[in-house]
Amino acid sequence: MLIDDAVTRSGQNYIRSGTEKGRTLDVVKPENNPKKPGINWASLRENRAKYEAMKWAGLPPIEKNFYKESPRTASMSPEEVEVWRKENNNIVCDDLKEGEKRCIPNPVCTFEDVFEHYPDIMANIRKVGFQKPTPIQSQAWPIILQGIDLIGIAQTGTGKTLAYLLPGFIHLTSQPVSQNERGGPGMLVLAPTRELALQVEAECSKYAYKGIKSVCIYGGGDRKGQINLVTKGVDIVIATPGRLNDLQMNNFINLKSITYLVLDEADRMLDMGFEPQIMKILIDVRPDRQTTMTSATWPDGVRRLAKSYLKNPMIVYVGTLDLAAVNTVEQKVLVVLEGEKRALMQHFVDSMKPKDKVIIFVGKKNTVDDIASNFGLQGIPVQSLHGNREQYDREQALDDFKKGRVRILVATDLASRGLDVHDITHIFNFDFPRNIEEYVHRIGRTGRAGRTGVALTLVTEHDWRVASELIEILERANQVVPHQLVAMAERYKQFQIRKETEKGVRRPQRKSPHQL
Ligand code: AMP
Repeated sequence: MLIDDAVTRSGQNYIRSGTEKGRTLDVVKPENNPKKPGINWASLRENRAKYEAMKWAGLPPIEKNFYKESPRTASMSPEEVEVWRKENNNIVCDDLKEGEKRCIPNPVCTFEDVFEHYPDIMANIRKVGFQKPTPIQSQAWPIILQGIDLIGIAQTGTGKTLAYLLPGFIHLTSQPVSQNERGGPGMLVLAPTRELALQVEAECSKYAYKGIKSVCIYGGGDRKGQINLVTKGVDIVIATPGRLNDLQMNNFINLKSITYLVLDEADRMLDMGFEPQIMKILIDVRPDRQTTMTSATWPDGVRRLAKSYLKNPMIVYVGTLDLAAVNTVEQKVLVVLEGEKRALMQHFVDSMKPKDKVIIFVGKKNTVDDIASNFGLQGIPVQSLHGNREQYDREQALDDFKKGRVRILVATDLASRGLDVHDITHIFNFDFPRNIEEYVHRIGRTGRAGRTGVALTLVTEHDWRVASELIEILERANQVVPHQLVAMAERYKQFQIRKETEKGVRRPQRKSPHQL
């Protein structure tokens, strides 16, 4: 009906042809419509390169290579580099360029090795008192600063944000055109959640220099205020894909000026279904930009994304850091009945010491609300975090928890990644997460920045699918494996074998082609 209506209004000449279930179908006859010929897709496709060139014509050139290797870095022998990588979370690097491979640059072992010529950056680093680059920073900086696209397989807590931000600042302030001539932001960071975007923004404001201005754009936040900030002129946009796409479609933001792009936590963005928005956003970002992508995992979807949006990248895997880092987290697993969980949680909360800070992870949003209000009724101050809460309340909850106004946060997996609160002493897994990866993310919220932490996990018969993977993680971190968990894993294995055998019996045996 809408199409009919639009066609009638635009005065096109249509003829009726064919019927379906008694309804007449309309078919467009381009020859009857001399004023408005149909879109010639074949010609558009043929001339794609020409139109692309027209779209990007007249843009200023991009400078990408700012790396001056220090004599100390250059003097590292291949053996030394290999040992360094092994000892630093077992870093593995690769060049994904097809054809002849390039040389992967040596890692930088000190900040001076890489930022000696950037006194503003050095001053900021000294101010916060960091001792040395984290493994991902050591290996990523020389690659990004050479202008090479990078994929960093690393998780939150590894220092990945500064790994891409600091070279981004150098890139931004060293372009041949000034900010005014650029006509829009020069750097874009796409992040999956508002929480992560705000955290990147905070990191950005802390380390930015030379008046670099950044803005955070996320769904649920004050749209008008964000538009005002963007249109005033900013250098860095940190955004969740949905809201940025909204501003892009409404012409509030010019993305053509972006020369440095970051896709942060790409796996999470895909999990959250942001691929279409990312695709639409990147249509307007010049293809000769520099791109960095981070991801905690490296599944097919992320590989596809990398292939589409990065050019000849290098990849740096920082071993399963959180898995390895669990030596700073004591993991206790209790195999219990569903009906015992509430009492155990209550006991845990009642025994908390004044300095303890805990995230209680729960599977469902309404269970979060239920638990939080129960504690509230008992006069125990808690905050809660899940996707159905209003943005303002979510930010308030995080702030209360960060600043210590409450010491208990009841949350869904929304809080399992990207949450950077240093003094969390405990993780209480009331419900086991959907998968083992999420478990690793959750327990990684504690034991951060050199501290130790405790993760207490309740497991019920319901979670038997993950028992064997959990055992593997506990064993790798030299933790106690409860014998009930081992029994559960064994029962699940037997169950699977039985299921397979039954399937085999029920399924009629297919004849192989040569038997036919
Ligand atoms: P990220 O993985 O980016 O979320 O970083 C986790 C935390 O590590 C943040 O609070 C950073 O400020 C901090 N951080 C980043 N780089 C370093 C470093 N070289 N040394 C110590 N802490 C760092």
